[in-house]
Amino acid sequence: MNIILLAPPAAGKGTQAKFLENEYHLNHLSTGDLLRQVAREDSELGQKVKETLSNGNLVSDEIIFQLIDHYMAETKNHQFLFDGFPRNILQAQTLDDILSERCEKIDAVFLLDVTEECLKKRITGRRLCKNCGAIYNVTEPSLKPKNESICDKCGHELYQREDDNEKSFEIRYREYKKQTEPLIEYYRKQNKLYSIDSMAKAEEVFHRITSIIEKEMIK
Ligand code: AMP
Repeated sequence: MNIILLAPPAAGKGTQAKFLENEYHLNHLSTGDLLRQVAREDSELGQKVKETLSNGNLVSDEIIFQLIDHYMAETKNHQFLFDGFPRNILQAQTLDDILSERCEKIDAVFLLDVTEECLKKRITGRRLCKNCGAIYNVTEPSLKPKNESICDKCGHELYQREDDNEKSFEIRYREYKKQTEPLIEYYRKQNKLYSIDSMAKAEEVFHRITSIIEKEMIK
C-alpha cells in the first residue's frame, strides 16, 4: 500500500502521517523533514535550502528528486506514506515512474481539506518537540501540551518552526494554490483521490482516513 497525504500548509499532514505510520507500518517519507535536516548542514546546499524554507517558497525539483532517490534506495520496506511530496505535476509524474519501475503504484491520495482561515490559526499555534518530533498545537484543546514549552511525551523543549509565521504562510499558501492544487484533478482522474473534511479533531480525521483504507484497500 502506497499513500499520499495532500494538503495545504498546517492542515495536519504531519500529525496524520505519524498516526498512519504506526497503524500500518508504512515508511513515512516527509520531504519537509528531509529538507529540514539538509538545512541544518553546514554547507552551501544547507544554506540555500534554509533560506528557501524560511521564506516559504518551494525547493527546486532537482534537489527533491535527489533526496527521494537516496531515501527510497536505502529503504527496504516498500510501502510508503508520502507526506509533502509530490507538490507539483512534474513531481507526481516522476513518482509514478519511480513506482512503476519497482512494479508498485499509488493506491490512495488523501486530501486534507481545511479552510484558509483555520490554517492561519493553526500555523501560529504549532509547536514541535526538538527531541522526539511530537507535534502539538497550542490553539487546539485536543493537541495542546500540558505546558506550552515542554513535550508531554519526553519532557524536552518545544519549538516553533521558522516558517510558521503569517508572512511565510501567505507565500506557502500561494505556492500550494498554484503548484500543488492541480494535483487534486490529476489524482481524481485516476480515481485515487479521497477528500477528507479535516476541520475536526485529529483523532476524528484519522478515523475518517482509516475507515476508507479498511473499506477500499484492505480486503
Ligand atoms: P512541509 O514540512 O511539508 O510543510 O514543507 C516545508 C517546506 O519544505 C515547504 O514550504 C517547501 O519549502 C519545502 N518542501 C517540502 N516538500 C517539498 C517538495 N516536495 N517540493 C518542493 N519543496 C518542498
